[in-house]
Amino acid sequence: MEISLDVPFVLGVLAEEHQRAANEIGEFGVVRAYEHSRQRHDARIASAPDVGTLACRAGCTWCCHFSVDVRAVEVFSILDFVERSLPAEEKARIYSEVRANSAALQGMDDMERMRRNVKCPFLSAGRCSIYEARPQTCRNYHATDVVGCQQSYEDPDNLEIDPEFAPMVYQAGGAHVDAFTRAMREAGYDTNVYEMNCALDTAISEPEARQRFEEKRAPFKKLSGDDVPGEFEDLAD
Ligand code: SF4
Repeated sequence: MEISLDVPFVLGVLAEEHQRAANEIGEFGVVRAYEHSRQRHDARIASAPDVGTLACRAGCTWCCHFSVDVRAVEVFSILDFVERSLPAEEKARIYSEVRANSAALQGMDDMERMRRNVKCPFLSAGRCSIYEARPQTCRNYHATDVVGCQQSYEDPDNLEIDPEFAPMVYQAGGAHVDAFTRAMREAGYDTNVYEMNCALDTAISEPEARQRFEEKRAPFKKLSGDDVPGEFEDLAD
């Protein structure tokens, strides 16, 4: 779906979030700054003018059966949330699914991954068990018609399916993520994108990964990520 870009709106989000993120990364450290930023992310989406057109509802889980891309800061924040908030048996179930998904996905290229249904390890009884800490990609989901989401789930091999989405929610969420990512990159932190299950599995099995990340080094020894440029970032230059 083509959208018409609201440049002043996107520039406003980029400037505001970049400044706040840069200040908070310096003040609180990168993981806590990201967690603060998540609250602003949700608020921006909630106040987007077309938020009322979203078809996304609690209990609708079509989009929770695909591989999700994350950055390292999201991985460490999710693991903090799981350790802090979930009971031991749920934690064990999640880590077992993470390991199984990671083993199945490793070695696949991006196109192969996109053509697979992968049940998210955090999906439990039709709900996201880490909703407060869910990845930025999940926060940005913005479908206006569940039909396209269902079709993608039922026919994952067909990459021509293009679900309808809410353009202002898309721009608000995308610009927010790009601004926080830019502030992290400028501060020297890893901003590569990783497949979520593979990154979680690696972070769990490499306890020094978080320290490497916080020391501004490449966090994962066994995993290489992709430095994906932000879609909206260049508008600020
Ligand atoms: S993290 Fe939560 S919202 Fe995202 S895919 Fe998994 S279950 Fe769905």
